[in-house]
Amino acid sequence: MAKFYSSLTEIKRGLQSAEITVEGLVNGYLDQIKKNAHLNAFNEVFEQEALTSAKEVDNRLKNGTAGKLAGMVIAIKDNICYKGHKVSASSKILKDFTSIYSSTVVERLLAQDVVIIGRCNCDEFAMGGANETSWFGPVKNQADETRVSGGSSGGSAVAVQANMCHAAIGTDTGGSVRQPASFCGVVGLKPTYGRISRHGIIAFASSFDQVGPITHSVEDAALLLEIMAGPDEYDSTLAQKEVPEFSKHIENTGKKKIAYLQEALSSPGVDTEVKDTLVKYIDKLRADGHTVKPIAFEQLDYLVPAYYILAMAEASSNLARFDGVHYGYRSPSADDLQSTYKRSRSEGFGKEVKRRIMLGTFVLSAGYYDAYYAKAQKVRRLIREKTDQILSEYDFILIPTAPEPAFAIGKEEKDPVVTYLSDIFTVQASLAGVPAISLPAGNNSKGLPLGLQLLTKHFNEQELLNFSKYFLEL
Ligand code: GLN
Repeated sequence: MAKFYSSLTEIKRGLQSAEITVEGLVNGYLDQIKKNAHLNAFNEVFEQEALTSAKEVDNRLKNGTAGKLAGMVIAIKDNICYKGHKVSASSKILKDFTSIYSSTVVERLLAQDVVIIGRCNCDEFAMGGANETSWFGPVKNQADETRVSGGSSGGSAVAVQANMCHAAIGTDTGGSVRQPASFCGVVGLKPTYGRISRHGIIAFASSFDQVGPITHSVEDAALLLEIMAGPDEYDSTLAQKEVPEFSKHIENTGKKKIAYLQEALSSPGVDTEVKDTLVKYIDKLRADGHTVKPIAFEQLDYLVPAYYILAMAEASSNLARFDGVHYGYRSPSADDLQSTYKRSRSEGFGKEVKRRIMLGTFVLSAGYYDAYYAKAQKVRRLIREKTDQILSEYDFILIPTAPEPAFAIGKEEKDPVVTYLSDIFTVQASLAGVPAISLPAGNNSKGLPLGLQLLTKHFNEQELLNFSKYFLEL
C-alpha cells in the first residue's frame, strides 16, 4: 500500500526529496478509491483528469512555479460547482446537470495547484445527517461498514478517513462538515458565516451555508481556509476583512478560559461514552492549567426548532428554481406547464427534500409567518446574543459534536423530529454564525470515532486553530 501523509507539510518534504511525485500520490489515492468503492463515498471520480493535472503540477514544481497547494489532492462535495463537471447535490433532479461555471472556492483552490480527484456523495441537497437521503445511497463508515458516515458531507468525510484523497471540501449548514468529521475520526471546520464565498455552492439555507475543509490535520484545515476565504464580488454577504495566513501562525497561545454545557453531561440523550470523553478532556485541560467551567444555556431546547424552521423556510425558497423548466430533470409525462412543475418536482426530489419544502412553505405562508418564521428569527437573535455573551467571557465553548457515535445504516428513526434532535450540538454555531471545529477525540469501546467541538467568537479562527492543534496533542 502507498504511504499516506497526515499533512501537506509532510507531502512537501516527500516531494522535495523526490521520494514521491504528485502523479504517484494520485495513483495511490485512485487505488484506495478502487479498493473502497463499496463505501460509496464518490459520486464520480475524475481519474484521467486528476492524473493529467498531477503531471502538470509536477512540472510546475520542477520549474519553481507551483502554487501553495501543490501536492494536495482533494475531493469536493457534490454540491460545489466545478465548471464542465457534473454537480448533482446527490439528487435525481440534478443528476445529469453539468456546471457552467466554477464556484469561487474551486477557482481559488485550483489557482494554488490543488488536484481535484472527484465529487463526493452527500445527503440530497445537503439535507440530512447520515448521508441516507442521497439519491446515490448511503455512504459506509470505514470504521464499521454497517454504520453511517454521518452527513451531509458523508462522502467527503469517508474519502479523507479512508485515504481516498488527502483532504476534502464540504459544506456546513447545521453541522454537515463537523458531524461526519466526528463520525469518521477526522478534523472538520465550519468557519465564521461570511468567511468563505458561497458563490457556486448549491444553496440550501443561505443564511447558514458555509464551506469548510475536512482534513487529517489542523494545519491543513488552516491552509485550506486561508486559500478559500476572503472577499468575493459574487457574494455580498462576505466580510470584507483581510484573511490572515492562518497556517503560518499556528502557535500555542497560553492558558484559556473554556465553558462547557452542563447539559451535555446531564442529558439522558447523550451517549455515556461521549460524556466520558468530554469529562476526560475537561480533566486534561484543567490539569494543564486552563480554566474550565460549566455553564447553563437556557435556550438549549430552542436550538433545533429554530434551526429547522429557518433552514426549511430558506430551503423552500432556494429550491423553487428546480422547476423542470430551467434546468435539471423534466418529467417525461408532463404535458403542460403545471404538470411540468408538479411532476418534475414530485419525481425529481426525494422524501426528505419534499418534507422540507412543504414545511418551509408552510412557515412562510401568510397565516403562519409570524407564528413560526418571525418567531424563529427572534429566537435566533437571542441565541446569537447569548452565544456572543458567553464567548465574551470565555475563549471557547467545548461540547460534543454529536450526542452519539455513528449509528447503524437503515436505523434512522422513523420520526424525523428525533433525527433532527441529534443536531443539537452543531446548530448553535450555525445559528450564531460563529466558527466551530470538530476534533477527533479517540474511539469508543467499539472502535467508533468520537468528536469534540470547539466554538469561538466571530472571525476568531486563528485562535481556534491554534488551540485545536494543542488540543489534538493533549
Ligand atoms: N443535519 C442538518 C440538517 O439536516 C445539517 C445539514 C447541513 O449542515 N447541511 O439540516
